[in-house]
Amino acid sequence: MDVERRPASADWHAMPADQALECLEARPEGLTEAEAEARLARFGPNALPRARPRPAWRRLLAQFANVLMLILVAAAGGSLLLGETLDATAILLVVGVIAMIGFLQEGRAEQALARIRDMLAPRAQVLRDGRRREIAAEALVPGDIVLLEGGDRVPADLRLLEARRLRHQEATLTGESLPVDKASDPVAADVALGDRSAMAYAGTLVVQGSARGLVVATGAATELGRISELLGGVEKLRTPLLRQLDRAGRVLATIILACAVVTALVGIGIHASPWPQMFMAAVGLAVAAIPEGMPAIVTIGLALGVQAMARCHAIIRRLPAVETLGAVSTIFSDKTGTLTRNEMTARTIWLPEGEVLLDGTGFAPEGELHRVEGDAPRREALILDDHPALCHFLEVGILCNDAELAREDDTWRIHGDPTEGALVVAAAKAGLSASAIRGDHDRHDAIPFASEHQYMATLHTLDDEPMLLVKGAPDRLLAICDRMRTAQGEDELDRGLWEARLHALSSRGLRVLALAEKPHPARSPLDEADLEEGLVLLGLVGLLDPPREEAIVAVAECRAAGIRPIMVTGDHGVTARAIAEQLGFERTGRVLDGPALEAMSDAALADAVLEVDVFARAAPEHKLRLVKALQSHGEICAMTGDGVNDGPALKRADVGVAMGRQGTAAAREAAEMVLADDNFATIVAAIREGRKVYDNIRKTITFLLPTNGAQGLAIMLAVLSGSLLPVTPLQALWVNMVVAVTLGLALAFEAGEHDLMRRPPRRPEAALLDLFLLWRVVFVSALLLLATYGVFSWLHNAQGAPIAVARAGAVNMLVAGCAAYLINSRFLTRSALSRQGLFGSRPVWVAIGLAVAIQLAWTYVPVLQRLFGAAGLAPSHWAAILATAAVLMLVVEAEKALLRRRG
Ligand code: ADP
Ligand code: MG
Repeated sequence: MDVERRPASADWHAMPADQALECLEARPEGLTEAEAEARLARFGPNALPRARPRPAWRRLLAQFANVLMLILVAAAGGSLLLGETLDATAILLVVGVIAMIGFLQEGRAEQALARIRDMLAPRAQVLRDGRRREIAAEALVPGDIVLLEGGDRVPADLRLLEARRLRHQEATLTGESLPVDKASDPVAADVALGDRSAMAYAGTLVVQGSARGLVVATGAATELGRISELLGGVEKLRTPLLRQLDRAGRVLATIILACAVVTALVGIGIHASPWPQMFMAAVGLAVAAIPEGMPAIVTIGLALGVQAMARCHAIIRRLPAVETLGAVSTIFSDKTGTLTRNEMTARTIWLPEGEVLLDGTGFAPEGELHRVEGDAPRREALILDDHPALCHFLEVGILCNDAELAREDDTWRIHGDPTEGALVVAAAKAGLSASAIRGDHDRHDAIPFASEHQYMATLHTLDDEPMLLVKGAPDRLLAICDRMRTAQGEDELDRGLWEARLHALSSRGLRVLALAEKPHPARSPLDEADLEEGLVLLGLVGLLDPPREEAIVAVAECRAAGIRPIMVTGDHGVTARAIAEQLGFERTGRVLDGPALEAMSDAALADAVLEVDVFARAAPEHKLRLVKALQSHGEICAMTGDGVNDGPALKRADVGVAMGRQGTAAAREAAEMVLADDNFATIVAAIREGRKVYDNIRKTITFLLPTNGAQGLAIMLAVLSGSLLPVTPLQALWVNMVVAVTLGLALAFEAGEHDLMRRPPRRPEAALLDLFLLWRVVFVSALLLLATYGVFSWLHNAQGAPIAVARAGAVNMLVAGCAAYLINSRFLTRSALSRQGLFGSRPVWVAIGLAVAIQLAWTYVPVLQRLFGAAGLAPSHWAAILATAAVLMLVVEAEKALLRRRG
């Protein structure tokens, strides 16, 4: 393409569409793949430059930006001034290791999130080689023809070629939050950005309507690219749980610091200990007792959760959802495509003169049509030429329709709405070609389908006469039809008869559409007023959309897990109930539909929502009311959505869930979680994962705190009683920040307990550590303290070992005790004394192996010995330590057994 001839971007809105096409050497039917490829190489991908990730050295430096690290660095400085070079070096070594661990973990967490973000990369509908297809928005090039519909985020700057009832929300660009109308007519050259109605700018949102636009600028060349320099960085790892931990941590730290100061003062005042030694003791106490390793471990636990969820197709957009998911007690779910397969197949058509059945399932256009005579279908296939009414019905079904059927890699696929696709397939089974029929009858105007009005209408010229074609929800259309089309012409409509037919189809779980027409509509372009009365009914078609097998299993799993699935669908109540029964829903006796719901007060709805599992003929605003009604009972709910107007309900729900395939960009952006496979079972899998993450965090915390407790107490007791410290501050620092964190991380990989989905959801207000876990923390702290002190005095007093040996024994006892307790901690209440409990987790044994290796190095490598004041141990010492650790584990198991017995 001749770049010189491309006009400055300011001009696109002012030139006629044809001229824009010409400038870009583009055609209304789109570029070829080869052209697009050449242009992509030339103009680059359609993406805004990314914010460069923080360089590694800055991330490493950031590790020092917390109080603990500063205390440590200050302590190292202090020691240096006091001439304690060895101490200073050792502290700095530990500081280095801590920073490294934090750095690596944070890196992993950030990477995990970045990968997730790539999974949410936007897509665009384009025409290439004259066919509609979906491509990554990054692959768009100038000259491409893009199709837009309600809910889309515009992927590049477009000159509109055709726009129908198009309205955009351009707040990202102009700051104006009210939607503006768009049209394809050129406007004056000098108008402001917000008034260039012939343009659809990248980053703005289509709130309504449909359009076709020519890509005139991509990537950094778009208006959005000009104003926003860079895409934001990775989302910060902040969640309510982490904030809560932070707050609790700060309070705890203050108390511990106060204790440390008092302890040191007591040491100096009463025992006349030298103050440099007491300074180090105070620092050591603080460092030993403050659980600083915890936020890092919790963060990595959350990040692992996000990754695991992504593996089961649930993509987390906002981290707090990982926690909230574990507490979900109700799932409001769409039916079509989420609980069902969305592989719509037209099974039966009711025309005024009778019923026709269609063979075959899925989108393959293979199968015959049979007339029903009496009660049974006729054996021989029907010949379309003998049935003009059927032929007309199928043609209308194709014209009032945007879906396309395509064969790709030997499978038949639908581009567009599967409900509409089913009609294309049905017509193809009868031998009608959608492209031929659409080619013969130009569409002059259209009102696209929307859940709010439940119909789609198009305007054509049929037999030289203007004709309005409508398809939509039958109850909606029957109300505005007063006649029906028969082979002989128009006839009176027997509404009762058609309602009975509708009921018969719906109660088989079929999704029913009605088709109707209106000759000589009053207006062109179309107007909603044309759809208030005077339509002629053509017939009904019943679409089969069977439940997903996985959804049936997932519904059962929900019920076992105390989670209530609720169906919210736009379909007819009778259809919805039939499907709900097939899925195994609990309360299908009563179905509430949209109009009934509207007639209810908030209070009445709050009552009803506890009794009813199926809501039919529901529109987006009903979803919002349902969420509010449920939340008024303190329940935590997930809500699925796919449409433009589902945003408020998704935002209001505790976990908004958007569809990754059928969903609009608008819904995705409002959601906390996106389902890559649109599958209900995936929500349940994510909840299971969420429960597991929460459990593992609890386990990790219950594991880590006693190490802190025992060491803090040991130092405090020693100073207060004026005796020798069994563990020096530096040694405590080592165990706490290096060994315990290494061990604790293993719990983040725990697979989840067997009753994960057999217990009721966690109450949202429940404390992270309940009384029972607090008790466990105190109990194990005491045990560890006892063991450590025991080994220390045994070695020092009974065996007369030098102090370095006695301390090495105490530290190794502490580590061995922690390792043993790690195995206890795999299950909070269940016994760990089984093959599965002892050996069932690889990460646990990898962590223990690592701890053994670093502890052996710590005990025997001369440099480290000197740094940490340790010395080698004799085999008998090791034997005693290991035996004590084993006893400790058994004691904790005994405590668990007691607790289990008591309830
Ligand atoms: P859901 O997505 O919950 O299944 P919808 O709001 O999409 O419900 O559909 C509600 C009703 O509108 C359907 O029962 C059907 O009768 C009708 N309908 C659905 N899709 C279309 C469409 N593309 N064109 C016309 N009518 C439709
Ligand atoms: Mg739908």
